[in-house]
Amino acid sequence: MEFSYLVPEGINIAEGDIVTIPFRSRLTFGLVTKIYDACEIDTSKFKELIKPPQFHFKAELVEFIECVSDYNIIPKGMVLKMALSAPKVFAETKTRKAKLEKSCEKLDVTLTDEQSKALSELMHLAENGFSVSVLEGVTGSGKTEVYIEMLKILVSQGKQILILLPEILLTTQLIERFRKRLDFPVMEWHSALTPNKRARTWKQVYDGTAKVIVGARSSLFLPFYNLGLIIVDEEHEPSFKQEESGCYHARDMAIYRAKINKIPIILSSATPSIETENNIKEKRYHHVRLPSRYGKGELPEIRVIDLIKNKPPRGRWITAPLEEQIRENFKQNKQSLLYLNRRGYAMISLCSECKSKIVCPHCDFNLVKHKSKELLLCHYCGHTETPTIKCKNCGSIERFSDVGPGVERIEEEVFGFLPEARTLILSSDTLNTRNKAQAAIDQIINHEVDIIVGTQMVTKGLHFPKLDLVGVIDADLSLYSGDIRAFERTYQVLTQVSGRAGRESDKGLVYLQTLEPESYLVESIKTGDWQSFIECELANRKAANMPPFSRITMISLSAKNQEELIRYLRQLSSRIPLHEQIKFLGPTPAPIFLLKNKFRYRFIIISPKNIYIQKMIKSWLNSVTQPKFIDVRIDVDPISFA
Ligand SMILES: [Zn+2]
Ligand SMILES: [Zn+2]
Repeated sequence: MEFSYLVPEGINIAEGDIVTIPFRSRLTFGLVTKIYDACEIDTSKFKELIKPPQFHFKAELVEFIECVSDYNIIPKGMVLKMALSAPKVFAETKTRKAKLEKSCEKLDVTLTDEQSKALSELMHLAENGFSVSVLEGVTGSGKTEVYIEMLKILVSQGKQILILLPEILLTTQLIERFRKRLDFPVMEWHSALTPNKRARTWKQVYDGTAKVIVGARSSLFLPFYNLGLIIVDEEHEPSFKQEESGCYHARDMAIYRAKINKIPIILSSATPSIETENNIKEKRYHHVRLPSRYGKGELPEIRVIDLIKNKPPRGRWITAPLEEQIRENFKQNKQSLLYLNRRGYAMISLCSECKSKIVCPHCDFNLVKHKSKELLLCHYCGHTETPTIKCKNCGSIERFSDVGPGVERIEEEVFGFLPEARTLILSSDTLNTRNKAQAAIDQIINHEVDIIVGTQMVTKGLHFPKLDLVGVIDADLSLYSGDIRAFERTYQVLTQVSGRAGRESDKGLVYLQTLEPESYLVESIKTGDWQSFIECELANRKAANMPPFSRITMISLSAKNQEELIRYLRQLSSRIPLHEQIKFLGPTPAPIFLLKNKFRYRFIIISPKNIYIQKMIKSWLNSVTQPKFIDVRIDVDPISFA
């Protein structure tokens, strides 16, 4: 929202200044967007600014805030809040001398020919203003080495570099690597920073002392003094998408920021997203490749296990060949990783008498059994229950059976045949703080663990030098979600998990357990033929007129009162704008119809990419007064359709 204030005499302000203003009964901060001459308007009701501005946002940041707000249909004030998300900066009057992160031992590394070639290509592009480059290289191909050399050059030219990472809790390893190699401060930016640290970092970014920022999505909104390069690491990761209040895709917004700042941006991945691949194909993005693995580690060998021919006994999920290999690996004192993207012990507790499931009272979803915590947990709203033995539906006692294994159950199965092995579960339940994550990583690196059982937490850029074997329990797991990205996502995750095997030792080994050993997905993973896979996916998407060949916008509406919600939906439906190239679908109930006690409906809008749909959506939604108790969530380019 925009408000007007009077500027008292003696205070000079400019557009882009951050000022202290009285708002309702408190003081807050605002961005000066326009300055008027006082005689032009009636100012009798205006309040006055409190003190001279201490900070100024460059025009490029102001433009970026507007751009994020327009593209994603987020109120401008909400985006500004992200840029001001270091409250202590503005609260303090005294400035403490900034303490810089110090690094101790320094390390030097010589680049391989391939790395040098990639570096000179990227540096050449970096000299010419805005450009998007995709640095494609498998895990371990040495992308980080290339970055490090680029950072050295750009920092010596007085520039700042932003490195966006998909998962910040697990990145200590990468940050340490940067710190060991660079002579200048490498700062972090994420939600777990203390308020003081946050304020310090914000100021150092503002005054230019912070040279390299390694951060989560929100670091895009920092007030850089002289931003010279943005790197988006693992650009295909869905966690770059902010799903809650104010949806935006940090990778896409990073491209806008680079464009506004007229600087280069590098997207890196071993398996770039379909959108990015299409942009390479259409020559909008430059393509730089790092083909082979760095060092002596070779790509792992992939063995596909047919789950029908090798059906494990009832209540078990590890096939005989995989079990054999796990034992063998253990005998040779090597580490193994078992991958299953399901938290907890069992997905569903099913009454074998009446076939009813234990479901969350607030959501349309079953409760997941967590044995370690001895409770049933809703993965959507966090509701918990203590497991009972009596079925609420039919009253039977002790008739529940566990359906759909989670990582805890796989760990139990391993204990059944290898009780002497030391196991560790890596999931968001066990790695929810940075200290826990670090402790787990240390345990793995120091080989205090023989078998790791992990969810997709293990795919997030971790480096396990002693790992030799990866077993994928269910390679088909995410394929039936109905999500247009399911195939792409499965390929990416499985390649990333496979990339964990045999990184420093000899060749690693990967077992893929699947019901469809001959599917084109499994075949492409086996041969590592990402390019043919992408060609096929792009052709499918084009035929279906799905992104990246069209734009999807999802409007989700939810409320506790279903009748009121339906009335509002009817009003909206009657005002759907007519346009022959734009398809409005819905309103339809969302796949999870009840979530946190709220009923959920949605509209899906499919439009050609060259139409600026945001403006049309805004005026459509504004044509009906939105009742207060209805939540409207707008997601431009959605990733999750739950
Ligand atoms: Zn029952
Ligand atoms: Zn729930």
